Amino acid sequence: MRIVVPAGGIGGARFLRGLKAALGIDAPTSGNQTTDSTSTITVIGNTGDDITLFGLRICPDLDTVMYTLGGGINEEQGWGRAEESFTVKEELAAYGMRPTWFGLGDRDTATHIVRAQMLAAGYPLSAVTEALCDRWKPGVRLLPMTDDQVETHVVVEDEEGRRAIHFQEWWIRHRAALPAEQIISMGAESAKPAPGVLGAIAEADAVILPPSNPVVSVGSVLGVPGIREALLDKTVVGVSPIIGGAPVRGMADACLAAIGVETSAAAVAEHLGSDLLDGWLVDEADEAACQGVEGIEVRSRPLYMSDPAATEAIARAAVDLAVELSGGRA
Ligand code: GDP
Ligand code: CA
Repeated sequence: MRIVVPAGGIGGARFLRGLKAALGIDAPTSGNQTTDSTSTITVIGNTGDDITLFGLRICPDLDTVMYTLGGGINEEQGWGRAEESFTVKEELAAYGMRPTWFGLGDRDTATHIVRAQMLAAGYPLSAVTEALCDRWKPGVRLLPMTDDQVETHVVVEDEEGRRAIHFQEWWIRHRAALPAEQIISMGAESAKPAPGVLGAIAEADAVILPPSNPVVSVGSVLGVPGIREALLDKTVVGVSPIIGGAPVRGMADACLAAIGVETSAAAVAEHLGSDLLDGWLVDEADEAACQGVEGIEVRSRPLYMSDPAATEAIARAAVDLAVELSGGRA
């Protein structure tokens, strides 16, 4: 089975770990491509969170997927490296360097230096990501959604006035507490899908939307011209990131409010659209409220990714639904 997964950071990465287990893709020996299983996963990673700080290009969501699947993630936190230290961050602050709110770890910095060096030498982000994955061997093919610069910016207003700030500043520094008037995907209109993205979609037996942030993760990927259109021909099953009217972790409700979508499993399905979604997996708590969703096959089961076994079972349910909805073609 060939599965394509457009993914953000924590929610996407955790789900992908369960999906690998469900499909029997587990060998840490495989490279940026799975070789040991009849099933393959291609991840289209969100790069809208990317930011340039201290001359380094930082790709939080690509790195979260790479570290989580490659065994280098800080498990409790869900992002950043395990056994991390912050000497570089402290030294930068001692020089008065701004910003100070970004969690730049020492081990993580090495990844960003490799990336900065390769980008400066002219390699596209897709080639850089492949090179980084040579070390981490995530067992999936990890592609950025685009090699072009696309950045999510958020329009806010406070005592400093009305302005657009980078998504990371809004999310980390302000904890998404400053009301967002608008969320803009800067550069998206002229971006092209990265090499391999449209080909992977064309060859896919199914597409699974993990429980990633529907606005700034999945929404950013779908916002690259050509990607959403390509997915319309496919069997697409989504896993709801909203349980009982709340995002399980993070502040996705603030993102949904900014685009005028209610924080509910039903509203997110309707926002994604019945032209895109064939199936929608929701938590049992949301089953009744999703009965009214038209044109999308809704199934329910517990959706908390509380441990690897629970996450694997969620992924298996998503695969089963995709197989069923594709009439056995997937
Ligand atoms: P980020 O880029 O690190 O913010 O991560 P993602 O965009 O991939 O995922 C964030 C989303 O994951 C949030 O909207 C959460 O609601 C969702 N999420 C996190 N944990 C769980 C879980 O256990 N179950 C479900 N269904 N969603 C989850
Ligand atoms: Ca993210």
